[in-house]
Amino acid sequence: MRAAEGPSQASQLPEFHLDEVTVARRVMAERVRVFTDRAVAGALSSPLGTLLLVLVLGPAAGWGKAAAWLILINLDELLILGLGYRFRTLPPLWRDSIPWARRQIGANFLVGLAWGASVWFFAVEPLSHHFFFNLSVLVAVSAICVTIMSAFRTASILFSAAVLLPPVVHAFQTSHPFALQIGLSLIILFALEVQYGAVARRQLISGLDAAQRSQALVDQLSQLRSDLYQSNHALEQKNADLAAAFERLNELATHDELTGASNRRVMVERLELQVAYKSRYGTPASLIMLDLDHFKKINDRHGHSVGDLALQVLVRTVQGELREGDILARFGGEEFLILLPLSAADAARQTAERLRCAIAAIELAADQGRVRLRASFGVAELATGEVVADWLRRVDLALYQAKDSGRNRVVLADVHAPPDAMSG
Ligand code: GH3
Ligand code: MG
Ligand code: MG
Repeated sequence: MRAAEGPSQASQLPEFHLDEVTVARRVMAERVRVFTDRAVAGALSSPLGTLLLVLVLGPAAGWGKAAAWLILINLDELLILGLGYRFRTLPPLWRDSIPWARRQIGANFLVGLAWGASVWFFAVEPLSHHFFFNLSVLVAVSAICVTIMSAFRTASILFSAAVLLPPVVHAFQTSHPFALQIGLSLIILFALEVQYGAVARRQLISGLDAAQRSQALVDQLSQLRSDLYQSNHALEQKNADLAAAFERLNELATHDELTGASNRRVMVERLELQVAYKSRYGTPASLIMLDLDHFKKINDRHGHSVGDLALQVLVRTVQGELREGDILARFGGEEFLILLPLSAADAARQTAERLRCAIAAIELAADQGRVRLRASFGVAELATGEVVADWLRRVDLALYQAKDSGRNRVVLADVHAPPDAMSG
């Protein structure tokens, strides 16, 4: 069965698509950004450490070597700052992420090497407290930099190795009595740093990945929202067009196109209603039927368009004389019906008289001279128990009598007129 086939295509919720390749590229770009920012922070804090090492070991090692090392390491730090500045002022496109990462890893490796090389620059004696001071600074530097290097595994390994390997080599070169112990300790430290670096990297990557995925969803949602807004707007426009078309159709179905008066169908419905009110509540109502006098002559003399204009002016004039609630309908060519709810015969006759005068006062300028309108009126109050057809017949008969007795006049219908009096 069709109904069991599930929701139609149009009612299905839109699906969200995550392009895994794009997410991965963006995560990589973010890793480079985080790495660069952290390296800049490290480079800015390193002068304090380098100065400390120079001040403590300089007197023993000689100021010349100390100065050379200071220049070397700070040149490396300047390289890191330069890269960071370039990254900030000219952010690389995501497709340049990997070369950028390599550049950063390389620059940081050089900084690590410069730190490690301090053991050769200061070349302090084995077992001296200077050597252990140098060693403890290097241990601190490599430990502090675990976070900075954690964005890339190669960065972690290269930096820690660059900082920690030279003291081991130096210890063995100088046959330090604790060379083996120093070597083992630094290898353990290296392994721990690589391990902590891996944990920090996993956390960093999963955080960046989640952020990129949420961003992608937010982008799609906002696109969806803007699409919805647009289709809603288009729908509103269509609704407005439809409402206008409906209004127009309704107007055409209920009104006469030429004059804008109600049409025969609307009038008959209202008459039926009036008959129902009369039988249920005794509510009075009267009907006026008006017909232009010798209208054919106006058409013949001035043309059909002047005749049309005369009909329009007539309707405007009559509407202007009626009360709210009264209804004017075009019943035939130049024949109109006016329903006056709540009006008894006398009031209706007076209204018809007022209309007759108003119509007689109409003057239209046409090529063939002035056009004057006259009209005859039949008036009938709805009788008790009367049906619409009989009511219409009586008012029609009254109009006929108005025509018959000279036109341009109002005739009040006889309450008990014979139903088929017109046929004679
Ligand atoms: P009477 O006084 O006996 O009513 O004479 P009359 O000429 O008004 O009546 P008749 O029924 O002979 O002619 C009615 C005319 O009304 C004929 C027709 O061409 C004209 N007519 C009907 N509908 C329209 C219309 O929509 N526009 C125009 N211009 N003329 C119309
Ligand atoms: Mg006429
Ligand atoms: Mg007529």
